[in-house]
Amino acid sequence: MKLVYADNNATTRVDDEVLEEMLPYFKEYYGNPSSIHTFGRQVAGKMDQARERVATILGADTSEIVFTSCGTESNNYAIHCSLEAHPDKKHVITTKVEHPAVLNVCKYFGKNGYEVTELDVDKGGMLDLDELRDSIKDNTAIVSIMHANNETGVIFPIEEIGKIVKEKGALFHCDAVQAIGKIPINLKHSYIDLLSMSGHKLHAPKGVGVLFIRKGVRIDPLIIGGHQEDNRRSGTENVPYIIGLGKACELAEGYVKAEQTEVRCLRDKLEKGIKDQLTHVVINGENSDRLPNTSSVSFEYVEGEATLLLLDMAGIATSSGSACTTGSAEPSHVLQAMGVPPVTSRGTIRFSLSKYNTEEDVDYILEKLVPIIKRLQSLSPLFEDSQ
Ligand code: PLP
Repeated sequence: MKLVYADNNATTRVDDEVLEEMLPYFKEYYGNPSSIHTFGRQVAGKMDQARERVATILGADTSEIVFTSCGTESNNYAIHCSLEAHPDKKHVITTKVEHPAVLNVCKYFGKNGYEVTELDVDKGGMLDLDELRDSIKDNTAIVSIMHANNETGVIFPIEEIGKIVKEKGALFHCDAVQAIGKIPINLKHSYIDLLSMSGHKLHAPKGVGVLFIRKGVRIDPLIIGGHQEDNRRSGTENVPYIIGLGKACELAEGYVKAEQTEVRCLRDKLEKGIKDQLTHVVINGENSDRLPNTSSVSFEYVEGEATLLLLDMAGIATSSGSACTTGSAEPSHVLQAMGVPPVTSRGTIRFSLSKYNTEEDVDYILEKLVPIIKRLQSLSPLFEDSQ
């Protein structure tokens, strides 16, 4: 059976060049980068190179890069420690469409004496920047807003957002986990103070991430222990994975180019095929600025879980929301915030492509998907009534 992986916002395949770069650091060069002997120094030098590669792709300085274990840790670090650094400021702002790795951190603080503002989005998944401006108060410690949405791919204008946040004097954290490797980013002249990224979304392995901390931003570490990462993140570094992430960052310019050209064409072909061959279909955020690889499609009168399972039986991997919320019966909080009624959002499938997908993959998805949806829709009494 043909297999098609169309769930790249959940995780990506490790690039062959990334894996090749990592392999010697399991068996040949296995020193601890903190050791001063040759074994340690060999590894420390390679880790410096990885840090430089990450800094280059972000337009940052190497001193601003802290390696973490994942995007979730980076988000926790940014929000938790910014709040701790400003004990007199008890207000956090975020949006209703963030990943749980931001939303649930804010909710935690909400239960512990903080005021949390969750900004609304419109039908297209966009923020109202006036609402953001009006929400920032003297006691707002941090504003945490994502770069690109993991479910719909909708991109927020983070520089406009950052300018507003900085004019009002709060810290600005950006969860850029889904954006890096798909769209260009440059932090050099940016308003972003703190930025999260994750290796496994850009063809590096799972279990490695980065928190960018702009020079001059003073926050204490989240994980306390030894002196690693310049005392900003204790724990012996995950050397091979950090090296893998560094290599992926070196290749990321190529990834972005492929996303903007070939991957976008594949995504557009998929959406056109769906719209041409099916009725009662909504593409969420279709008219907004979106990631080139992502398509969130609501098939009305259908349960997303049923579609997902039938596609899986045909060898096609997709998601019925974000990987982290799949399995919960709750409608997607992102689509809910965009005003998509539950009957529509329940039928949503997220297709997320990558440079490893081909035209044949898209043809295969359409070949299998169209009869599945037609059959499921025909089983719905409500669909019959709508005809
Ligand atoms: N932020 C966003 C927008 C994500 O999509 C994800 C993962 O899906 C995360 C954070 C969490 O990243 P990680 O899986 O590295 O913890």
